[in-house]
Amino acid sequence: MEAPAISAESLAVFEATKGFMPQDEGRVLYEIAYEYLSGGAEGGAAGGNAAAGRPPVGIEIGTYAGRSTVLLGEAARAAGGRIVTVDHHRGSEEHQPGWEYHDAELVDEHTGRIETLGLLRHTLWDAGLDDIVLPLVGSSPAAASVWSTPARFVFIDGGHSEAAAHADFEGWAPWVAIGGALLIHDVFPDPADGGRPPFEIYERALATGQFTEVAVQDSLRVLRRDSGELGAPMPPRGK
Ligand code: SAH
Ligand code: MG
Repeated sequence: MEAPAISAESLAVFEATKGFMPQDEGRVLYEIAYEYLSGGAEGGAAGGNAAAGRPPVGIEIGTYAGRSTVLLGEAARAAGGRIVTVDHHRGSEEHQPGWEYHDAELVDEHTGRIETLGLLRHTLWDAGLDDIVLPLVGSSPAAASVWSTPARFVFIDGGHSEAAAHADFEGWAPWVAIGGALLIHDVFPDPADGGRPPFEIYERALATGQFTEVAVQDSLRVLRRDSGELGAPMPPRGK
């Protein structure tokens, strides 16, 4: 089923929100999220909560101020699903003072780091998504360590260091339902275009033999999960 058009109000909130999701990629993100939340995955346990009469879940790793989250939330609203979005809200390395993507307006004097949780709360309020998007505030590996709900999709857009990207893959890819999708942002095959770790986990996902690429939009990659055991660790990193 085709996704309903995103409302002008939500697009306005998306455009007004700080972050790192261009509109072309955002539109594909919205469509894919809708497709998988509204039945892209097989039923039964592998399909996630829906079998128990509960809403299908999509997971985002890396919320920042909620720019991409608005689009995921809109898709979930249209499909009767929920989004869990994971972030400690203290920024990645490249967001801290002195780094390339630093935004001085976001510095929290108390911690000396940036802080984006308040912005996210405003974004969700403005978009009317408080009951659809559930922020999970904490580090991605800590959150993954207590997670066990199958997801129709997992969207990885968190830290771009090697350690962070591989931890996101290891922590969350196991929870993609069979028939669900793993989405990875900032995948740059040419090192001249951007950092390696998101590309590395994209290659690592393909190398498991459990995922097939089904869509590409700029640096966004969509991999459908065809096999594997839900919740089982991903194969270790190759040499
Ligand atoms: N999806 C957002 C951009 C996310 S930026 C958008 O569309 O605008 C990456 C985010 O990952 C940052 O907010 C940072 O705080 C978060 N992050 C980085 N490493 C993390 C970790 N280990 N655990 C939780 N969040 C992390
Ligand atoms: Mg990104």
